[in-house]
Amino acid sequence: MTSTRTAAIDRYAPDETPVAIDLADNTNRWGSPPAALRVLRDTAPGAIARYPDAYSTSLKAALAAYTGVEASAIAIGCGSDDLLDAALRAFADPGDRIAIPVPTFSMMTTFARLNALEPALIPLDASFDVDVDAVVAARPRLVYLCSPNNPTGTLLPRATIEAVLERTGAVVILDEAYAEFSGVSAIDLVARSPRLLVARTLSKAFGMAGLRVGYAVGAPTLVRELEKARGPYKVSAASERAAVAAVTEDLGWMRAHAELAVGNRERLAVEMRRRDVDVISSAANFLLAPVADAHTFARRLRAIGVAVRAFSGLDGTALALAATRGSALRITVGPWPEMESLLAAFDRVRAACE
Ligand code: PMP
Repeated sequence: MTSTRTAAIDRYAPDETPVAIDLADNTNRWGSPPAALRVLRDTAPGAIARYPDAYSTSLKAALAAYTGVEASAIAIGCGSDDLLDAALRAFADPGDRIAIPVPTFSMMTTFARLNALEPALIPLDASFDVDVDAVVAARPRLVYLCSPNNPTGTLLPRATIEAVLERTGAVVILDEAYAEFSGVSAIDLVARSPRLLVARTLSKAFGMAGLRVGYAVGAPTLVRELEKARGPYKVSAASERAAVAAVTEDLGWMRAHAELAVGNRERLAVEMRRRDVDVISSAANFLLAPVADAHTFARRLRAIGVAVRAFSGLDGTALALAATRGSALRITVGPWPEMESLLAAFDRVRAACE
């Protein structure tokens, strides 16, 4: 009854039981941009009976101003998930290989399998950089890169992105979901490479994960193919309106809160290192903290009101992860009182484990 593709994967099943402080999904702990909230309150009921704009023209215009590219170089999706998934159909055929440096955003391997692609998982090197020789050797039709990378928080050197573009003939999907926290982007490379597609989202720094809005930037020819694979009407009328308001009126809100997240991330890193936890230097709004038996640790944290994401067996050769054999907690950074609660809970769980 089911396809072999869906039979081979698990349904995504995050723990959705309510928790006092949820630091598990890297969303914006300060909330949502005020202009977006105002637009949602004011959206006329008449707008709901009709289909939205098929490919979100107004939002493309707003994002063109924000990113500095032409609107024809932008595709909009129902979260960046939607665009990552569609890109695999647009730029590869069943049986083709996609190179995925790991550890990274685990949904990519799932999307690869759902689209009948063969994932070639290539461990990041000791400094969390991509092993470009191994990517080239895999002879991929597609390459997925993520910078800052989830779950490590690490940035890819620009030279690595350029080398992957130059040394493979692949379409390169660069996931910049957390770019606003790093102050770094490779969107400008799109003008030079017709094979680069940069995926972005309003779910993180823009605080709008619940509205499901993502976008991709690439050469207009790439974007048109991507839109074919994605299909029309993926972003609701209300989401599009709120997103336009956020991107045009709330950049100050977004930047101020991204800055707070970065400041608190560094403060939290100091506190964790003081506790002899060798957190990985991050360019995103989360920290990866290697701890033994992360799943048990996270369960105990949750029991006392703090949710974080546990990982085990993270692939890669990075020394920081070798000590715990790839067991780590990923902690979303939020307002400092939440970080204090996290640290107190962390200390309690650790004391109980000793
Ligand atoms: N890429 C990365 C690296 C992510 O961490 C996430 C969210 N966890 C996404 C893409 C998907 O985000 P969304 O679909 O909400 O845009």
